[in-house]
Amino acid sequence: MCNDHGGAYWTYEHRMVLAEKIGRPLNINEDTHHIDGNPTNNHPDNLELMALGHHQSFHTKQKVQKGIQGFRADVPVEEDK
Ligand SMILES: [Zn+2]
Repeated sequence: MCNDHGGAYWTYEHRMVLAEKIGRPLNINEDTHHIDGNPTNNHPDNLELMALGHHQSFHTKQKVQKGIQGFRADVPVEEDK
């Protein structure tokens, strides 16, 4: 390991595990996604490469969807037109 590049950015375990999985270091615009949503599960099978912007919007959408589902669970669904 070389620590002289400073960034804690590159010391994240999940980034290193994914880099090993795909056989190359991650680019600065690439991010690691935890498939099961558990950020402490750094098993290679749980890690997926995502573009940085896409990753953020992916989680934003996920939160919105969960919000809608939660709302629907509390309120009877009315489908009249
Ligand atoms: Zn993610």
